Amino acid sequence: MGVNAQMKFQEKVEVTTKRVACDGGVLGHPKVYLEMGNMSEVTCPYCSCRYVFVEPDSVSKEI
Ligand SMILES: [Zn+2]
Repeated sequence: MGVNAQMKFQEKVEVTTKRVACDGGVLGHPKVYLEMGNMSEVTCPYCSCRYVFVEPDSVSKEI
């Protein structure tokens, strides 16, 4: 085995809630919940996946 931490790619996922659940997808890890708090993004400590918060109604909803 010669697999050192060379996974450089960070996947970026847009979400509309500040609380997301991540289970690693392809790599797979125990399901964890990530809270963004005041931040607008959070990185999963297991798979380095980046979750970025976007406004739910950024898809035009003029009132
Ligand atoms: Zn993850």
